[in-house]
Amino acid sequence: MNSDYNYDVIVVGAGIEGSATSYQLAKKGKSTLLLEQFPIPHNRGSSHGQTRITRKAYGVYKHYAIMMEEAYNSWNLLEKETNTTLYHETGMLCTGPRDNTFINGTIEFSKTNGIPVEVTNQNDIGNKYPRMTFPTNYVFVLDTCAGILLADKGLRAFQDIFRQNGGILKDNEALTNIIPGSVITVQTTKGQYTCKSIILTVGPWAKQLLPTLGIHIPLKPIRINVCYWKEKNPGEYGLGKFPTFYESEAIDGKYSVYGLPSMEYPGYVKMCLGWGPDVDPNDRDFVNDQWVISKIKKYVADHFPNLHSEPSIVEPCIYTMVPDEDFVLDKHPKWSNIIIGVGFSGHGFKLGPVVGKVLAELALGETPSYDISPCRLNRFTFQSKM
Ligand SMILES: Cc1cc2nc3c(=O)[nH]c(=O)nc-3n(C[C@H](O)[C@H](O)[C@H](O)COP(=O)(O)OP(=O)(O)OC[C@H]3O[C@@H](n4cnc5c(N)ncnc54)[C@H](O)[C@@H]3O)c2cc1C
Repeated sequence: MNSDYNYDVIVVGAGIEGSATSYQLAKKGKSTLLLEQFPIPHNRGSSHGQTRITRKAYGVYKHYAIMMEEAYNSWNLLEKETNTTLYHETGMLCTGPRDNTFINGTIEFSKTNGIPVEVTNQNDIGNKYPRMTFPTNYVFVLDTCAGILLADKGLRAFQDIFRQNGGILKDNEALTNIIPGSVITVQTTKGQYTCKSIILTVGPWAKQLLPTLGIHIPLKPIRINVCYWKEKNPGEYGLGKFPTFYESEAIDGKYSVYGLPSMEYPGYVKMCLGWGPDVDPNDRDFVNDQWVISKIKKYVADHFPNLHSEPSIVEPCIYTMVPDEDFVLDKHPKWSNIIIGVGFSGHGFKLGPVVGKVLAELALGETPSYDISPCRLNRFTFQSKM
């Protein structure tokens, strides 16, 4: 430790973004404290659960597609460092009408970048996968190099390597106050520390924390119901038989639906609506979201007749949405040693390793490895009140 301050960097929040950032800092030899308000592991934020979808063909947001190559390599490196399997290649089946933006973006991006995709129709798809019923004008695009990340294990792996490289993880200890300066004072529920830079990766709690630092941006935490549906023929949708699945604008022309093969609960397929009601992360389970269950039930009954039409298991998780669905990765406009990494809008897990690299670079005053202009704070018409 330096005599003028306790840590080079303090990272607040040990979800995937904070854990991947801390991993990067420790591997660069920086003394780093990772603070987490809850005892770990916990299921109160956005990074818990066993699975997340990953894919290279980021059809709509091209700046993330550019980052995906490194994200794949980094997950692979983490597998080697921890001698753990963190990824299963399954492919991802996207469907929708021919003119759907996501479908077209995926086909176009894949062609331009040499990513293998197979474009098929209802007839062809019927021979390959369990029964799915979609309108005849729908196309199916199989992105063959997509797959599943083992989320809980990945999170743990980043934290393990962080600690092995000298990082300190203190859980059950919440940040309560930040006193800015060239050396920052960080107050917590258990004590006080000083550091050169602080990185805030606090997930949905950013909506409460950022205004205390004068940052008022339109963050919208929403509750997602992760639903599992029992297979009528056990094993029919298992790993190796069914890929991950996605339909953008699937319901009412606006809500997306995504699915994963039966895996974490054998015999139960994960199929979810990618939207939900506004939520305060401290009162996550006190919201009325029966409308979400009703919509996804109808979707499953209409399109997946070989699944039971009631979910057997429903587990909550939180997305922190930003209107343009771009991440927020930037320095505080007044204090350049306060770094913000929030608003991952339901698609931040796969990119955790690259987000971690960029946030670490910002904290160390280095030029970010990627063009993060779509993720800057200045895209919001907000006033910093400090
Ligand atoms: C159901 C669901 C499915 C998803 N599917 C995918 C997918 O398929 N692919 C994909 O790429 N992404 C997916 N995502 C999105 C992805 O999981 C999130 O973008 C990502 O987990 C966000 O991580 P985070 O670290 O920002 O937030 P979090 O995981 O919420 O971590 C923030 C942490 O900060 C801590 N914290 C907050 N305040 C304080 C404080 N004052 N002091 C100390 N600690 C504090 C919290 O306790 C929490 O642990 C999905 C998300 C959900 C909910």
